[in-house]
Amino acid sequence: MSAKSTSPRAARRFDKARIQEAISVLGLNAEHGKLAERIRAEVINGKADAMVKSCFAALARNRGFSLMERNIGIESFKQAWVRRLQCYGQGFDTPEYFSERLETAAAFARGKIPLSILQLQHCLTQQTMVNSLSSIKLAEDAATVQPLVDCILKLTSLELYLAAEGYRLPEIDELQKALDGLRKETSQLHREASTDQLTGMMNYASLMETLEHQINAAHNDRRQDGGNPLCLIMIDLDFFKKINDTYGHVIGDFVLRHVAERIRAAVRDFDKAGRFGGEEFVIIMTNTELELAKVIAERIRKGVMETPLHLKEFTIEVTISLGLAMLKEGERKEALLERADAAMYEAKRAGRNRIMVAKDTDASQALPEL
Ligand code: GH3
Ligand code: MG
Ligand code: MG
Repeated sequence: MSAKSTSPRAARRFDKARIQEAISVLGLNAEHGKLAERIRAEVINGKADAMVKSCFAALARNRGFSLMERNIGIESFKQAWVRRLQCYGQGFDTPEYFSERLETAAAFARGKIPLSILQLQHCLTQQTMVNSLSSIKLAEDAATVQPLVDCILKLTSLELYLAAEGYRLPEIDELQKALDGLRKETSQLHREASTDQLTGMMNYASLMETLEHQINAAHNDRRQDGGNPLCLIMIDLDFFKKINDTYGHVIGDFVLRHVAERIRAAVRDFDKAGRFGGEEFVIIMTNTELELAKVIAERIRKGVMETPLHLKEFTIEVTISLGLAMLKEGERKEALLERADAAMYEAKRAGRNRIMVAKDTDASQALPEL
């Protein structure tokens, strides 16, 4: 019962609205604050120690008491009980009151002490208070006693309710932890499932999903205000078979990683770059006019050409061919990819290490040779 600090977790679970709800369900209101004050003054004052002592014998017979002795400490439990009696019902509608009880119950649950000990404590408190009422002068006037008894019953109900709620906190924490772990695992799995292992770029599935999504958005924006041009670049390494044949497949993989890095360095943060397949890459550029897409494509081409890969004693020169296509009205991703691919093959036919713009986007045209 010695929740010294108010747990933010417990308080968070019981915000003002939930506290209000709980006390109104139990029929508690401001009037009970005044009644509790009377109970403190006329029933408890000066007798808290004795009341707790008289209850304790019954509690000690309960199963689980020895666990409480070990895990909570009998003396501290007793003292806290006396303190509670001394401020009986005081501020029962405050977050501090709720938190203190919730945390106490949570501590009991963590200590594997049966909930029945807490329930018994509250029932014994209630009994001893009601008994005390009948032995004082007030008892002569039933109309005076009845509201006090009612107040005691309601405050006991609140204690029992909070004990049960607090008892579930560690369980909820565990559940939360398990859920957090699961969420982390899921997002890790999702990351792995959408990432190309070799280059760390988006993989084919993820590229396709992104492309579908971006194309839908582009068509929507176009319908609304004519904006959001979308461009796509298809990239294929030149003579990559020869690199594999000359240096071996493992070095070929290094070359792929190297090209992926060059691509990443050349695109903007919001461009989506991914590995389309073997030695082919795709860049999706939203909100990008064709002229700007050409500039970025050229930056990629130059970046790859001007940065050979140095591996051991080798200097491996790589070039790429690029096909650029701009999304047409109503066009689906398959058609856009096909046009970009066809443009890329035209770049191959025209001598490689160059960019071709897809037919129907502009007139198909090569960028000036550099
Ligand atoms: P071109 O200029 O016409 O594109 O010539 P190319 O030699 O690059 O021809 P192509 O694009 O058809 O060659 C693809 C090669 O890429 C064949 C395949 O062995 C190789 N490749 C595909 N995936 C991988 C990979 O993951 N690692 C390595 N090292 N090689 C790969
Ligand atoms: Mg290829
Ligand atoms: Mg190739």
